[in-house]
Amino acid sequence: MGILSVLRHPTADKRLTLLALMSIGAVIYFNFVTLFAMSLATLVTIPHLFKYTMQKHYIFAVFMFVNTYWNYLMAYFTDTTARRLPKDVWEFHQQQKTKPVRCYSCKLCGDCIVKRDHHCFFMNTCIGYYNQKYFMWYCLYMSVGTFYSLITTAMYNNAVFGTQFNGSTTFFTLGPKTVYLWLVGRAPLGEMILVTYLYVCLAGGTVCLGFFCWQLWISFMGLTTFEAMHDMPGINNGFYNNMTDVLGKFWILGAVFPICLPQHGNGIYGDKFGVMDGANEVTKKNALKVKKKVENNKRNNKTKKNN
Ligand SMILES: [Zn+2]
Repeated sequence: MGILSVLRHPTADKRLTLLALMSIGAVIYFNFVTLFAMSLATLVTIPHLFKYTMQKHYIFAVFMFVNTYWNYLMAYFTDTTARRLPKDVWEFHQQQKTKPVRCYSCKLCGDCIVKRDHHCFFMNTCIGYYNQKYFMWYCLYMSVGTFYSLITTAMYNNAVFGTQFNGSTTFFTLGPKTVYLWLVGRAPLGEMILVTYLYVCLAGGTVCLGFFCWQLWISFMGLTTFEAMHDMPGINNGFYNNMTDVLGKFWILGAVFPICLPQHGNGIYGDKFGVMDGANEVTKKNALKVKKKVENNKRNNKTKKNN
């Protein structure tokens, strides 16, 4: 919704409007390419290439597709804003006009994000504490699925159109050569489209794999992309704790099955109010005052209901 409000806003600066448009374009691009890849695999390449092991390939393709989309949708629909933090923590920071540790605002989403990592254009949402695991599994499934599509499409091109692949330098010459042959009428349109698609797969698979490796690395190190880019220290509690903080305690289940699993921590860093150690005493005293006030309100509400 943040993107739409940027586009509707009459005074939004040009850079922000351009980023909002890019984000919408990237979402359309992802959905189009993914649906094209799935249709190509199930309707064209698998039936043509794997007559005796077709079932296994169908199961693999569907497994990759379901996991990719599940993680994509979960990353998009999971609320990762600071409003999800405990009420007293959120109210305390609103009164103080501060933000909990590791929470940052995103101009495109128009919200304060817990443990903000980055704004993902392909998902049109921010990646933060509550949806980072979905983003990571999405990158992994997307890269494996894309490389699978790249290999099967190349095999299909070779079998049907006789496209030649000559080792690691193929992609330097294949595209221009095929476009030329198509222009002079010596290559069919289908071959040209599928060769173009191979480049899309190569770029997409490499980018997703790169993102997955990067996310894995910073998670192990107790960092976010924002912290790594701004040379900030992050919060390091050891490899295992850092990892479960991002992926949850049941991360093995989350890696294989499209299921919703709880976070291991609560997204609050520093002290219990999300205030960094070393914050001044006045801030800490105010935090306790707000907590008492929230508890009193709760008690009063309960008494009113009972009466
Ligand atoms: Zn954002």
